[in-house]
Amino acid sequence: MRSLRLSSVALAAALSLTLAACGSDDDGDDVATPDTEASFEAGTRMAELAEAGKITVGTKFDQPLFGQKGLSGEPEGFDVEIAKLIAAKLGIAEGDIEFVEAVSANREPFLQQGRVDMVVATYTMNDKRDMVVDFAGPYFLAGQDILVAKGNPKGITKPEDLKGKKTCSVSGSTPAENVQTKYGLTTAELTLFDTYTKCRDALANGQVDAVTTDNVILAGYVDAAPDKFELLGSPFTEEPYGIGIPEGQEEFCDWINETLAEAADDGSYAAAFEKTAGTVISDTPELPEPKGCDA
Ligand code: GLU
Repeated sequence: MRSLRLSSVALAAALSLTLAACGSDDDGDDVATPDTEASFEAGTRMAELAEAGKITVGTKFDQPLFGQKGLSGEPEGFDVEIAKLIAAKLGIAEGDIEFVEAVSANREPFLQQGRVDMVVATYTMNDKRDMVVDFAGPYFLAGQDILVAKGNPKGITKPEDLKGKKTCSVSGSTPAENVQTKYGLTTAELTLFDTYTKCRDALANGQVDAVTTDNVILAGYVDAAPDKFELLGSPFTEEPYGIGIPEGQEEFCDWINETLAEAADDGSYAAAFEKTAGTVISDTPELPEPKGCDA
């Protein structure tokens, strides 16, 4: 994969990324080994999942670096690796994780309907979503940015410039809501699809002038087609990525936060990043402070 070195200054502005001077891990294959000793108090969600020996995870299937189904037929990316780390600590092997595509607008419904046990899908934690689902994390801090055609023919340099142009984003996403409520884009100015690849294709075809979502999602599209697209590199929101679980599972949420902290301590969090998003985004983040699981 070609490596696009995102400006660490631009990224750090919104992502609070810390330069982690660690090299890549040396265990080569990095498969999260299921914890065969895992044991949990009866009646907890962790015990239920460990006992079932399988877990269903909602993730993205078309977002390079975080969740993308490639030729292998299996989704790959940082979100996928985070899900594998959590499953492994429950004693669940990779092959017993069922990954289900959860497009942005399906994330809360899938959790509410019990269609998935958790969602790891570039999922911003916020108060509105917190009313209907619970979030562990954050495990990563992204920021909303803008993708334009190579050479930036429309001269877009900031979100205010989107007014009067054609912008694409995804239904049920925070970036779509933000450009409508904060930057006043009308339905005529904003095209909404269910996935970001449809927006990417609309930009490539000249049907829209810009695509807006999280910088790290857009960075994956630039990396795949650097002759077609460019990223402004000036993030203007904070998008803390959380692990969505059904509402009322506070104990599971606390346990996921402990698991993430252990993964940060033993290097598996950094290794998960470096083998996925880290191939394009040069700064390995430190695990952000957990938000806390109460209420
Ligand atoms: N992080 C944002 C969100 O959760 C945008 C990315 C996405 O739609 O997955 O809405």
